[in-house]
Amino acid sequence: MADKRDYYEVLGVQKNATQEEIKKAYRKLAIENHPDKNPGDKAAEERFKEATEAYEVLSDETKRKNYDSYGFAGVDGSQGFGGAAYRDFSDLFSGGFGSIFEDLFGFGGASRSRSQGNPNVGQSIRVNIEVDLQDIVADFKKEMTYSHQVACEACHGTGSAKGTASNRTCPTCGGAGQIRQSSGFFSMSRTCPTCGGRGSVISDPCPNCRGTGTVRKSQTLKIKIPAGIESGSDIIIPQMGNAVANVATPGDLYVRVNVRPHRYFVRSGEDLYVQIPISMTQAALGLDINVRNLQDETIKVSIPAGIQNGKIIRVKGQGLPRYRNSDSRGDMYIKVQIETPRRLGLKARQIMKELSEAMGENDSPTPVQFENN
Ligand SMILES: [Zn+2]
Ligand SMILES: [Zn+2]
Repeated sequence: MADKRDYYEVLGVQKNATQEEIKKAYRKLAIENHPDKNPGDKAAEERFKEATEAYEVLSDETKRKNYDSYGFAGVDGSQGFGGAAYRDFSDLFSGGFGSIFEDLFGFGGASRSRSQGNPNVGQSIRVNIEVDLQDIVADFKKEMTYSHQVACEACHGTGSAKGTASNRTCPTCGGAGQIRQSSGFFSMSRTCPTCGGRGSVISDPCPNCRGTGTVRKSQTLKIKIPAGIESGSDIIIPQMGNAVANVATPGDLYVRVNVRPHRYFVRSGEDLYVQIPISMTQAALGLDINVRNLQDETIKVSIPAGIQNGKIIRVKGQGLPRYRNSDSRGDMYIKVQIETPRRLGLKARQIMKELSEAMGENDSPTPVQFENN
């Protein structure tokens, strides 16, 4: 085969280029030489394939390292990219290439969901908010600010400048909204980039929204967060998502609520788990301890005399409210952690010795089976 050009040369980047630079360079070349834009142009198709091959290697750190060390042999065994490369290349289109394209050009994912969803409703969006575990012991309101697309007021969401004939058939796709591309080695259908899948374009675009029919707007909302909500749940606010040109109803807003981990409480459903250290003498004698619950109230918990290390004490009703049934609450589980004093004062040491004798302790303990915990 003809001399292959160095991958860095193909993409026009330095040997030490960052992933961002590589991606940018490839994106530019792919757009310029994409078969969609250059129908029947074999040279452009070659350049497109060459750039894609280079990108495929240089965007993968492992392949890039091999290529840097061993050249073309490092990325495709001993064969180099001969006839085999062509075969590999079609695999690239049917498999991994889709994800490269979605990643680089943003089509695929977004256009699919738009065409699959209800065409009479705009685009749903998601925002993330974080709350603390102690926030959700009762229903509460959380203020949040986000931005979304709203209908342009100047053109009432049509995208057309006032007083002009609004739409004409899209010249790129002839009104189909989709472009089907087959170049022998791959075939795919994608949303028309000119009209965004609508099949028509605006002849005289509104200057306020540049013909898109929507403008970006910052919005502040108070979200009601129900008590006991699980981390990762969505609260859906109807019609507070994105507006889309010529669609009356905006999409919905999905507020994903992430609950931050607590300093010491660990949650499991409505129940809370906490570990509390007590001393060996307290464990032997038993006592009432003061424990702070999630609302920071002090509650009394009885530790029975002779409690063993790792024993769990259940405190009823001191967990989280049950989701959508906040009259009922989960429980708190306290794991008792018995601590041996690390150092003893003179007097304590003397007493401890006497205690050991009084208890008849000896230096020949009886083994029991090993317990893994
Ligand atoms: Zn407008
Ligand atoms: Zn079109």
